[in-house]
Amino acid sequence: MKFNVSQVKPGIYHIKEAAVHFDLIVGEKKALLWDTGYGIDELMPLIRSLTDKELIVCNSHGHIDHVGGNYAFEKVLIPLGAVAEAVMMTSHALRSLGVKRILDGGDVPHHDYSKVIYEDLNESMVFDLGGRTARFISIPGHTRHDLALWIEEDRCLLTADALNYVMWLYFSDGMKQSTVVRSLTKLVDLEPEFILASHRHSPLDAQFLTMMRDKIKTLRRADFNFAHLDAFTLRRDDLVEYHTTIQHKRVSIVFRDDAFDLEEKEGR
Ligand SMILES: [Zn+2]
Repeated sequence: MKFNVSQVKPGIYHIKEAAVHFDLIVGEKKALLWDTGYGIDELMPLIRSLTDKELIVCNSHGHIDHVGGNYAFEKVLIPLGAVAEAVMMTSHALRSLGVKRILDGGDVPHHDYSKVIYEDLNESMVFDLGGRTARFISIPGHTRHDLALWIEEDRCLLTADALNYVMWLYFSDGMKQSTVVRSLTKLVDLEPEFILASHRHSPLDAQFLTMMRDKIKTLRRADFNFAHLDAFTLRRDDLVEYHTTIQHKRVSIVFRDDAFDLEEKEGR
């Protein structure tokens, strides 16, 4: 399995590894790696074939398909609240379940993650990459700790798992519909020119983002059916799902059954 690299514009690479994408943003002085994939193939040779700049490595959240390549780096920035999940997801026990499934039962490469030093990544941080400025936006929804990356000069928004054709919005207890709407509104307000998402090879546009936000805002519990989804082999029966079409694409939205909090407000 090899990486599939797409240069979206000069110095912005959207890189596919198995079922996920991560991104490399190269400025005149530094480069920023946004997520590290599953950690199946060797990451450093790929990065060094694209840039020799000093590298800042960031994780959008702690899921297995976003932190798997962390072993290749001494320091990784990640929202503090997601560190425990990242450590758990890079344990051999969980990799041998979650990554094995992606490899259709093939051997999961062993990596040593014990030397990775995690440091906090949050909304107050700004990186000047040289001609490109990296900012971070806290967008609880997919998980409580999700961050988006905003490259101002390119009006490029990187949403990781927070905006996709399948919206999995159920990973954190107590996450509400209004929280997701607030998070997506923060992104809508940026007026991005294009959006790179972790499970889409082609960029999404601002209209898709706005339509998704508006759809989630108007959804009510009665629109959903019970879903029996398998999240990293953890079967849960408190999930509901809804299918719709946005921009002629089939879209799924998965919520926890207790996430609906906009209905009451509407009734007043
Ligand atoms: Zn995720």
